[in-house]
Amino acid sequence: MGTPLEYAPAPESRGVVHLQSSYGLFVDGEFVDPVDGGGFKTLNPADEEVLTEVAEAGPADVERAVAAARKAYVRTWSKLSGRDRGKYLFRIARLIQERSRELAVLETLDNGKPIRESRDVDVPLAAAHFFYHAGWADKLSHAGYGSDPQPLGVAGQVIPWNFPLLMLAWKVAPALATGNTVVLKPAETTPLTALLFAEICQQADLPPGVVNILTGAGATGAALVAHPGVDKVAFTGSTEVGRSIARATAGTSKKVTLELGGKAANIVFDDAPVDEAVEGIVNGIFFNQGHVCCAGSRLLVQESVADDVVTKLQRRIATLRVGDPMDKNTDVGAINSAEQLDRIRAFADVGDDEGARRWTAPGRLPERGYWFPPTVFTGVQQAHRIAREEIFGPVLSVLTFRTPTEAIAKANNTPYGLSAGVWTDKGSRILWAAQRLRAGVVWANTFNRFDPASPFGGYKESGWGREGGRHGLEAYLDV
Ligand code: NAD
Repeated sequence: MGTPLEYAPAPESRGVVHLQSSYGLFVDGEFVDPVDGGGFKTLNPADEEVLTEVAEAGPADVERAVAAARKAYVRTWSKLSGRDRGKYLFRIARLIQERSRELAVLETLDNGKPIRESRDVDVPLAAAHFFYHAGWADKLSHAGYGSDPQPLGVAGQVIPWNFPLLMLAWKVAPALATGNTVVLKPAETTPLTALLFAEICQQADLPPGVVNILTGAGATGAALVAHPGVDKVAFTGSTEVGRSIARATAGTSKKVTLELGGKAANIVFDDAPVDEAVEGIVNGIFFNQGHVCCAGSRLLVQESVADDVVTKLQRRIATLRVGDPMDKNTDVGAINSAEQLDRIRAFADVGDDEGARRWTAPGRLPERGYWFPPTVFTGVQQAHRIAREEIFGPVLSVLTFRTPTEAIAKANNTPYGLSAGVWTDKGSRILWAAQRLRAGVVWANTFNRFDPASPFGGYKESGWGREGGRHGLEAYLDV
């Protein structure tokens, strides 16, 4: 979109995935029909085509899956040495690499994210998480949690739709490495890579019941986290659902980690290299259509350079290609669901009503499917809802500041605290800012960098606990 550059479409082949007309639940090492018999369709958000139908797990299925996970925990998985668990994890990591094209295409079809991102970010990072945790499996006594740290038992895990396979990897890899077994529920709009992952578990000869996958919606997730046979709850999703899970597990002995929403500040100081900062701002908010918990959705730019930064930013955004997610040239794909599109539209209308100025990238959007153009609001005030609430879409709110102290105060003026970005030429200012920002991750002169060795998680309403790195192991150990 934007400047009408001619380009040759370069779609990735759909032929690499073989979708069945329907899928069962993955329990005790095999695909089974749900006890209650329900199912639902999953769509391609780029064209609203029905991809397939998946089973909806009811309470009896949750019962069955938790029992399978318990049996596998007691009989097999907790008895294996760390070295042997590591072998399975290495095998899974290699299978993810081997089947990476299939996984990337499936993720893009089901989620709407550009194939370039699923191919170059989601799938390689998912494999990296399994490799990383495979390495930990036989070294847990060196992790700083005592000489022989023990697993918790059965982990009930619930994940969102924005990075379906990657969030699965963040959950399953540390759980298995530390000796726990798993019942995982993927999000209702993106179940397909989790089902392919179930096949990968079969291919890896993972003992039955170590990983169980239950597709379903919120009710399935609620039944799973409330199940008395679950020892550990790991949730990634909205702060609202996180609260309800905190209520449901209060007073139980379940160990809980919550990875919730965010409203990150991306701070551009007047000495920042502007062109690099513009790239970082674009990556911060338009990567994955802005469906990113740690998205840099609040741009805080120093007043003296604000006009320059915003002008260059808009010029750059106008060159982003919005469209077919399966096209390797696409920068911004489809919004994941009609519901999420409605939510983004409603927030943008609130921005108009609150008096912020809306700028939208020029260009036509596809007619079918769920689309929202890259959008920038300037003149945003701290009290505006578009500065306070998580929009979870390609919408940037721009605020300005005069002094570094004001920048920090504004950045921290949020109920969230997941991530932040700092753009400046001075190393000392990076360190000064990083010490003061109440955010789990602070990126300096870059944004959205992830590594399995680096712990990720939030302050305040962004959640409890950390995932990744040595710190992330603690969530799955009895320490
Ligand atoms: P959501 O909370 O609506 O759903 C997340 C998952 O929870 C889904 O699988 C859903 O079916 C399930 N669920 C819904 N109600 C439930 C209940 N009562 N009990 C148990 N499970 C329930 O969130 P979403 O819209 O899928 O995802 C977007 C949100 O996720 C955003 O707020 C985003 O910031 C957050 N997120 C956070 C991180 C992080 O690491 N902090 C990462 C990705 C996404």
